[in-house]
Amino acid sequence: MSLLGWRQWAVDRDGQLRPAWTPWSPFPPGMLLWRPDAITEARCLRTTTHPEEPSRADAPAVAHERIPDEHCLCGLCAWRTPELLAAARRPTWTSLPCVVGVVRLGGRIIIGERGYRAERG
Ligand SMILES: [Zn+2]
Repeated sequence: MSLLGWRQWAVDRDGQLRPAWTPWSPFPPGMLLWRPDAITEARCLRTTTHPEEPSRADAPAVAHERIPDEHCLCGLCAWRTPELLAAARRPTWTSLPCVVGVVRLGGRIIIGERGYRAERG
């Protein structure tokens, strides 16, 4: 399956695209990076055990194998239409410039009323 979705990215000081709505910490620096020239793979903190701290408090009770999962929040998010994107709340946690774009989503995709969560972008 392949769908087009609309979203925003924050542009960091190296010119790299990062999620505009998700604070980057506590995630590893490279984890939430989008690849404009390649395929971005969704990841889920619940599917992996933290290498140094296997018993972390935020480790999941139940991991899942497929990304994204219906009962989780993982996956690459995008709005279904530019109108929905325009109506969404603006990112307030970052002072970096934001860009708007279209992403082609692939792999496993969960289709919501207003947006998508996808395995690949
Ligand atoms: Zn997940």
